[in-house]
Amino acid sequence: MTNALSTLLETVDVVLADGATGTNLFAMGLQSGDAPELWNVDAPDKIRALYEGSVNAGSDLFLTNTFGGTAARLKLHEAQNRVSELNRIGAELGREVADKADRPVIVAGSVGPTGEIMEPVGTLSHAEAVEMFHEQAEALKAGGADVLWLETISAPEEFRAAAEAFSMADMPWCGTMSFDTAGRTMMGVTSSDLANIVETLPNPPLAFGANCGTGASDILRTILGFAAQGTERPLISKGNAGIPKYVDGHIHYDGTPELMGQYAAMARDAGATIIGGCCGTMPEHLRKMREALDTQPGRERPTLDQITDALGPFTSPSDGTGDQAAPERRTRRRRRA
Ligand SMILES: [Zn+2]
Repeated sequence: MTNALSTLLETVDVVLADGATGTNLFAMGLQSGDAPELWNVDAPDKIRALYEGSVNAGSDLFLTNTFGGTAARLKLHEAQNRVSELNRIGAELGREVADKADRPVIVAGSVGPTGEIMEPVGTLSHAEAVEMFHEQAEALKAGGADVLWLETISAPEEFRAAAEAFSMADMPWCGTMSFDTAGRTMMGVTSSDLANIVETLPNPPLAFGANCGTGASDILRTILGFAAQGTERPLISKGNAGIPKYVDGHIHYDGTPELMGQYAAMARDAGATIIGGCCGTMPEHLRKMREALDTQPGRERPTLDQITDALGPFTSPSDGTGDQAAPERRTRRRRRA
């Protein structure tokens, strides 16, 4: 399959993705509780500035401002009938910025979770989820996205529903989950589980991996977990700039640009090919990441000790894959405490 991302992956060693969408938009005045997607129409200059911030810092790929663009998410803002418009325009603005760059830049159509829990645990049916993801996918395609980008997913059912929708839209895609619960996703998926899930899909992603979660150290442990499964697929690492902490009533990320530069180089050494940031990652972080990737020579796969020495401690004792971290055990331990 020929597409812009596959072509780019053949010509560069590492693709630098973008940083945070939310953190950057809050810095531009978005209020907590607002739907960022409405700005695609109401404040397009700010969305162009968001995209340009990544491109000017050296990113080869950026995500569109459409993370909450499913009908289920937009319904919270009474905008569920604007899925096509908001996603299409989010991608069109991206296309405009990417096409002005002096090098190939990929527009990745961001697709986040529906926010609803799927059957059998919840009430959202597979068919309903596929329909919502399909509606969003078609709009991102119409707006000119090169690739669709599923992110921050925690349930395997939702990952599969989105994959099916993307095949209906006949679009290449990438997919990441958020391993934010002691090495697992909120729904219990481990790094090795995800590596196995992608290979069972009729339309596997071009690349897969992890985003958000907790700190830079933890996400690298997850990347090592994917690599240990022997996957041939490019791996994605989009980690937060440090660990979120409450400071004066808002969430602050303490990761410095230097730390994120170190993280980027180690993510590459750990086996990731598409490397970016997530929450807290601003253009100044991306610049240091670009610099590190361009100047630091590749090294051997880092050990867990090398990761914590460079980037700080893990937030949980294991990556969730051993017996030690089975969910039942965690529950028991918590109850006793
Ligand atoms: Zn994040």
